[in-house]
Amino acid sequence: MSVRPGLTKSEPTNSAEALRQPIFGNPLITNQEGKPLGINGKSEGNAFANTGHTRVRDLWDLEEKEWKGLSALGVSFHPSNRKNRDLIIAIIPWDPTTFNDIPSTGEWIGKKETGQTGPPKWVYQVVEATQSTANVSEFRNISHTGRIQATSSHVITIPLEGYEPIRVLAQDSHRTTLKLAKDIPIPGKKPPLYWIFGSGFISDLNWDPGDWHWQQKHNMGDTPFFGYSSKRGYQNTRKPQPPPEIINFIQGLSLRNSTTAQVVARIWHNARPRKVGALIWLTLNKGLPVGTWLQTMGLQSTCKGCDQGLPESAQHCLFDCPPAQNAWNAFRSTWEVWEAPNRISITWPFILLGEAVLEEEDDPPDLQ
Ligand SMILES: [Zn+2]
Repeated sequence: MSVRPGLTKSEPTNSAEALRQPIFGNPLITNQEGKPLGINGKSEGNAFANTGHTRVRDLWDLEEKEWKGLSALGVSFHPSNRKNRDLIIAIIPWDPTTFNDIPSTGEWIGKKETGQTGPPKWVYQVVEATQSTANVSEFRNISHTGRIQATSSHVITIPLEGYEPIRVLAQDSHRTTLKLAKDIPIPGKKPPLYWIFGSGFISDLNWDPGDWHWQQKHNMGDTPFFGYSSKRGYQNTRKPQPPPEIINFIQGLSLRNSTTAQVVARIWHNARPRKVGALIWLTLNKGLPVGTWLQTMGLQSTCKGCDQGLPESAQHCLFDCPPAQNAWNAFRSTWEVWEAPNRISITWPFILLGEAVLEEEDDPPDLQ
């Protein structure tokens, strides 16, 4: 498994970011040959991946502040596992205890209450911080969607004990673009709308858009994930590789190991229009801007295609919604004319991956 240039991952800047790093397929965690660790077949991390140890924090004892031993990891004491544990820990490039965890200006923090699940009720944007306290703007979670609002324009001082970094998205009220919120609002200027990203705390995120950048051609520099548009996608000289989260998803489908690489290669195949690759990429990554995704941003959520008041999930709008069903029925009847084996049932993963699964690498599809 290797990650092509074109999509880059930024280095973690605090211990929370370091601990949520995926161990496998991560361009920041590489073996002696400079390659990310794979979880295929006999590769280094198979035993660890299979027992659910897929992130740096799964190997780290938060209380003792040290790497977990094999018994704490729950991995069997087969000699190769002992070796793998040592090997993985040796190449993780961060010691989580050495980060300077003083939040910088513009960063967002929240605190987990006992037994809390979901986003925090109160969050703060840091204006200035020291080792133990921070001057912050206070925001209150105003809806179950994670929308937050400033409680006042005053800056207050809080102790930093127990606070974790979180990601907050800002939506410019004049435009529809979303970006990670880092700027301190200018007094007198209309503030953007804010949402907590995902489950709130960086340590809880399965997919952190703040990690990833698209590398632009010429001297355009990196574009943050949320600054990416399809127009910019066309300017990409390199094909972006799906991040490890997608590779894990594909592998979760229990396809053959060799199939995974084929699927990944297929997504950005030259013969496939870039916008089609982007659609598959976003679908696999649950990143399609359909209703259920927008709902997490506090925006409209039911399907406009069928008026049945149903949540507009990717499954619904690409598969279950009546207009989509019509398209698939038409596809099915064409399929039957081709006399394709009818034992192949059309499932959602099959639709996403079928072409990649079925075709040979040197036989590109005719998609134009
Ligand atoms: Zn619908």
